[in-house]
Formats: sequence, C-alpha cells, structure tokens
Amino acid sequence: MTQPEAWSCPTTLGTRRASSAVAVGDVMVGGGAPIVVQSMTNTDTADVAATVAQVAALARAGSELVRITVDRPEAAAAVPHIRDALAVRGIDTPLIGDFHYIGHTLLADHPACAEALAKYRINPGNVGFGAKKDRQFAQIIEIAARNGKAVRIGGNWGSLDGELVTRLMDENAATPSPKDAREVTREALIRSVLLSAARAEELGLPRDRIILSAKVSAVQDLIAVYAELARRAPYALHLGLTEAGMGTKGVVASSAALGVLLQQGVGDTIRVSLTPEPGGDRTVEVKVAQEILQTMGFRTFVPLVAACPGCGRTTSTVFQELARDVQDHIVARMPEWKALYPGAETLNVAVMGCIVNGPGESKHADIGISLPGTGEAPTAPVFVDGKKVATLRGPNLVADFKAMVEDYVARRFGGEPDRVAAE
Ligand code: SF4
Repeated sequence: MTQPEAWSCPTTLGTRRASSAVAVGDVMVGGGAPIVVQSMTNTDTADVAATVAQVAALARAGSELVRITVDRPEAAAAVPHIRDALAVRGIDTPLIGDFHYIGHTLLADHPACAEALAKYRINPGNVGFGAKKDRQFAQIIEIAARNGKAVRIGGNWGSLDGELVTRLMDENAATPSPKDAREVTREALIRSVLLSAARAEELGLPRDRIILSAKVSAVQDLIAVYAELARRAPYALHLGLTEAGMGTKGVVASSAALGVLLQQGVGDTIRVSLTPEPGGDRTVEVKVAQEILQTMGFRTFVPLVAACPGCGRTTSTVFQELARDVQDHIVARMPEWKALYPGAETLNVAVMGCIVNGPGESKHADIGISLPGTGEAPTAPVFVDGKKVATLRGPNLVADFKAMVEDYVARRFGGEPDRVAAE
C-alpha cells in the first residue's frame, strides 16, 4: 500500500508532538508521518470469507490498517488464510490482531498467524491474571520481537489492572489531601500502559515497535488522559474514544474528543469506534475518521462540498437535491479521478442556496453554484476559480453542473484544455 505524502505542519495547526516512528507492515505510524486511519472488523474471524469481505470493504473505504479479533484457535488458524485471500484481491492493508487473555497461547500455537499479522494489540489489564500475568505478557512480547512485529499496548478504562488500581487508591487515601477517585483511575490507566511499555522494552521490544493507547469512553477523561500520556511518553499514540456509541452521538463524541487532542498535536493513528445499526455499514467509521482529519486540515482524502444549511430563503428541495447529487457524484467518481487526475482530492465545491452568501462563498471555492432563493430570478450563476463563467437554468441544471465539475477536474488536474468559456 502507498504511504501518503509526508505531513507538513501548517502554522495554524500547531506542532505535532514528537514520537517514535513505528512501521506497521509498510505503513508508518508516528515520527511525523501522516495521521493513519484504522478500523476494526466485527465479523467472526474464523469465518474467512466474511472477514475477507469486510476487511476489503474497510480497506477500499480508506482504512490504512485493519484490526481483527483473534479470540480462539479457530480464529488464529484463519488469519493466514485471510491474509492470503486479501492478497489475491490485491489488498495489502496491514492486519492487526486483537488479543485478550490467551494471546500468548494463540500466538505460540499458530506461528503462521503470528507471521501474517503486522501488529499485535494487547491490553495490560487482560493479558492474564495473578502470577501468570507477567509471564504471559513476556511471551507475547518475545514472539513480537522475534517476528519483528509492532505491538499496541492498549489500556482500557473498562478493564484496568485491578491490582494497580487498588494500590494507587490505597496510596492516594494515605496522602494528606487525597485526589478524587476518577483522577486516580486516570492515573492508573496511564501508569498501566507506561509500565507495560517499559517492561516490553526491557524484554527486548524496541521503542520503535511500540504504540500506546489508553481508551476511555468519556470525552473529558480521554482528553485528560491523552494530554498527560503525551507529556510523559515518547511512544507513538493510537487515539480513539472507546464505546463512542451509535449514530450522531458516536460521531459527535469522537469528533469532539479527537479534535481537541489532534489540535494539540496528540495522536499518530486514529479509530472512530462507532456502533453500527444492525446490519449497518461498517465503513462509516472510516469515513468519519477521514472527515475528522480532512476538515481539520491534517489529511486530504476526497473533495469537499461546502453547502449552506438552507433556510426560509430556499423554498424548494432543488438545493438539497443538488448538494446531495454533487456529493454522491464526487464519491462515485473519486476512484477514477484518483487514477486519472492526481490531486483531484483537493477540489473544493460550493453549493449555495441563495444570493445572500451564494456568490461570495462560490467565489471562494474552485467551482461553486449559487441557486436562486425565494423571489430571485430562476437562474444559477456558476463560479470557477473566483470568476462567473456560466448561468444555469431549467430542468437540466443538476446534470449541467455535474458536467461542469467533471470538466473542471479534467482541466485542472488532468491538464485537459479549458472547455468552459468565460461568460
Ligand atoms: S446562503 Fe441563502 S439559503 Fe443558504 S443559508 Fe444563507 S441565506 Fe439561507
């Protein structure tokens, strides 16, 4: 897979936090590389066909890393077959194995699985219990080191190391001015992943194979935990709000949390953990992650369509239909544009509802249209690179505007001659 262009930091975005660069397959995470989008399947990994289909869908939607559950021997045995079937389809997106409780056994018993995965994700709270915990953690780290694999040490608020929490709570209670329990729990989560990372390094896993995460489900807790983790740790960070939820709640909560941290320069790879509707489209989480990065100016994936929200000045559905049709057209055309017209993803289109902001906003876009609002003449001026080039009207307005967008993309990004004569 092709790694995106090196990320350069516009001054308005502040400075990305320095971290070690980790190779996950051939995708770089951290060390100034572009922020990587990842996702996770929800199929039974032992079902090779279903998992291959979903990984392929996520990869085609733009997921640069895909995580799969490896929860039992049948799932571990399926992993190399999944990798092979993806390769046949031309998909080389690195796979991450998600291990809990018996990861040490699965990796030891299934060397082909250990080899096929590009990264192992383990949770220090779920590696094992009691005296076995340290030994099982060490077994996983040694297998990763031997195979040259990266490891994400991913703590989770919901599965914290109970012994560590109890110890920190006891220490806190003995201080003259104890902190509240939530603050101590945040510290336990941070301490858990940092101690595990230090132990992994002692066991021989180089720093440039370690990625950390500390997942919580409340926005303010996530921001506090990651800000502190970033201050204390040199490791690359995986960023995501866990259990973000369904629909708009999940999108808003993830965007709010990730937006604040990304703006502070924190986060080297992100996942948006949305709960899909039953039978819903798993790739939505990839699109949301891309849109967070693109709207904040960190990455460019698809052309942006700026559309006003509409108001009492828009009296028909033409405006909403045009905005939707143009957006759908761009998404449908993007695979071909990507191949034919390098840079087409940077296109800006405006679809505006009336004369109030329509012409002004359209002039700022690469190509924009200002539809007639209530009481305006039934004509729609089109602006290209800030200049009015045409006035559309009549029943073919939508098709005519889409044709103008096509012409613009071909001319601007494909070097084709200008077919749009200035009016
Ligand atoms: S551009 Fe016109 S239609 Fe759109 S929100 Fe503004 S006033 Fe309303």
